[in-house]
Amino acid sequence: GGMVLVLPGLYVGGVESCSSPEALAAAGVVAVLTVDAEEPPAVPGVRASRSVAVAAAYLMKTQGLGWEQALAAVRAAKPDAQVNPGFQRQLKLYEAMGCAVDTSSVLYKRYRLEMLSERFSEPQDLPPEVFAVDPTTICQTLNTEVLYRCRKCRRALFRSSSILSHTEGIGPTAFAHKRITNSAQLSGNGQEKCTSYFIEPVQWMEPALLGVMEGQLLCPKCKSKLGSFSWRGDQCSCGRWVTPAFQIHRSRVDEVRTLPVGNFQTPKT
Ligand SMILES: [Zn+2]
Ligand SMILES: [Zn+2]
Repeated sequence: GGMVLVLPGLYVGGVESCSSPEALAAAGVVAVLTVDAEEPPAVPGVRASRSVAVAAAYLMKTQGLGWEQALAAVRAAKPDAQVNPGFQRQLKLYEAMGCAVDTSSVLYKRYRLEMLSERFSEPQDLPPEVFAVDPTTICQTLNTEVLYRCRKCRRALFRSSSILSHTEGIGPTAFAHKRITNSAQLSGNGQEKCTSYFIEPVQWMEPALLGVMEGQLLCPKCKSKLGSFSWRGDQCSCGRWVTPAFQIHRSRVDEVRTLPVGNFQTPKT
């Protein structure tokens, strides 16, 4: 037990480290970050796992270490330090996002959806934040974004920021490439084989998603078939499995590159 010095000012320890204010003061500890409050104490290893993960994340952020280097640094000070696979995955994601939590990044959205799909066998109530705002309900947008509309009735369906590209794996190199891809306005590079857009769920899909694992995605206005979804995942035409999958056939939507600000209503035709 006891706490272990990892860096000047950074200690990792179990909850018992906090039981002696004198020892903390002697070590120069002025603040205690508790990261295991909601875990049942009966699970061995979990507490250490979480505090080790937090210490590793701190080292990544402040020392510029990769997640493996950061874990190695914590282990050098505390040889029994372990992190479970879930925390390892979060540390990898944290590194891939450049040691900043960006909830609008494709990596973060994909991770959140994967977590959801693993947790639910029959999703009855999905957290509202997993749904992208319906493009017909908000007035402001980035001028650089591309809007996708139903080819048949022209109802706005989703924005380019909702597309979860699956051509790259998660990692710093892939992330750097993705940044370039995004700045190039997703001009179709590397996606020629994909006949569908894989996107995050959009608000208009919610009634179709509740309580079922898979089904069709219909245009909320004209009810024409746009694609399908499956929480278990589906295979893209390029061969890549995507889990979960919310796919819209490219042939069912049109791209709109310039958006008149404040007016996304479907023209009366
Ligand atoms: Zn594909
Ligand atoms: Zn339509």
